[in-house]
Amino acid sequence: MAISVLVINCGSSSIKYALISERREDRIYGLAENLGAADARIKGVTLGGEPLELSIPYADHAKALETLLARLANYHPQAIGHRVVHGGNITKAELLTPELVERIEAATPLAPLHNPAHLIGIEATMRLFPQLPQVAVFDTAFHQTMPEHAYRYALPKYLYTEHQVRRYGFHGTSHAYVTERASELAGNKNQGGWLSAHLGNGSSTCAVWNGHSVDTSMGMTPLEGVVMGTRSGDVDPSLHLFLASNLGWDIQKIDSMLNKESGLLGLSGLSNDMRTLVEASENGHEDATLAIEVFCYRLAKSLSALSCGLPRLDGLVFTGGIGENSAYVREKTLGYLSHFGLQFSKEKNDALARGSEGRIDNGTGPQIWVIPTDEEGRIAKETRQVIEPNA
Ligand code: ADP
Repeated sequence: MAISVLVINCGSSSIKYALISERREDRIYGLAENLGAADARIKGVTLGGEPLELSIPYADHAKALETLLARLANYHPQAIGHRVVHGGNITKAELLTPELVERIEAATPLAPLHNPAHLIGIEATMRLFPQLPQVAVFDTAFHQTMPEHAYRYALPKYLYTEHQVRRYGFHGTSHAYVTERASELAGNKNQGGWLSAHLGNGSSTCAVWNGHSVDTSMGMTPLEGVVMGTRSGDVDPSLHLFLASNLGWDIQKIDSMLNKESGLLGLSGLSNDMRTLVEASENGHEDATLAIEVFCYRLAKSLSALSCGLPRLDGLVFTGGIGENSAYVREKTLGYLSHFGLQFSKEKNDALARGSEGRIDNGTGPQIWVIPTDEEGRIAKETRQVIEPNA
């Protein structure tokens, strides 16, 4: 029987958790949010599927984890798997040791918003549950198989050799899960060439050959690549000079604008939420319509570009909140890709119900799948593989 794994994803003011055992239906999951504030709370779902809401005023990460872990102790988790955004050049999930904590700390300049929050969670769970094996699963690790011509920037070499300036890629657990699942459903697990589009608040694309990432749209940080909720994706790097010289902006202001005020939100002036934009567009909001257009066009461009990394294209997978739920975005994006033979069935695309897996191509070219992502399930699987390599 598979050991039960508590998956922890510590953000700057929230902690997502999921207790993952044998059956997907038996998951206990939730979110501790607004940490540090008066309205800090835990919201989740219990084993019976009942909603749980618990007020934990002013609780910090450690206090919230203590409360959570006390509640979950009855279910006897046998290991903890931590999601860690940036692992630098670490190639796989690893058992947490003081040395690994140091390596995660060393990668902090590459993920200044994420890694410090993960480290708070790791420190707290190691203190509270010293007897449990704990594993770090990195968003970047899946992409460590990219060839050098895909991960190097065309910059002076010393920036790479002395300062680790290179493309790393993110969303690795999601791209790994959905491409493995789609290829399995297609009858050839982890074989052939697959493209995946993970479209959530953060979005990225990935090219996978025989189960290994060969290229991805995000780079040294999660800002590179396609249009996202509030992130710009690719812009001309000279934009920085233009804004500094003409508007007197400093580098922090520029970085904040690109990460927090751009993307769908910046283009529409309305929202970073695709549901809101689709609704507004239907009601004639021109900037919302444009935001969706730019999102889909740039996404199709990114998928086309990444296809160069594949000797052959067997299929494309959509996932993430937008990829799983928006038939409209899928249709618009696929409209730009028909010259690759990617032909979808409008009927199948429109009929795909929320949260379900399904195939939406018309059977004439590469397969097109919608696969709900399962990052927590994948983190639990990788955690088990570290703890029981021969199981
Ligand atoms: P995160 O990256 O935070 O995990 P999600 O994967 O949950 O985000 O995706 C959030 C995005 O999914 C939001 O833009 C939301 O509007 C979008 N989304 C969810 N349901 C729908 C839907 N039915 N139609 C269009 N977009 C949707």
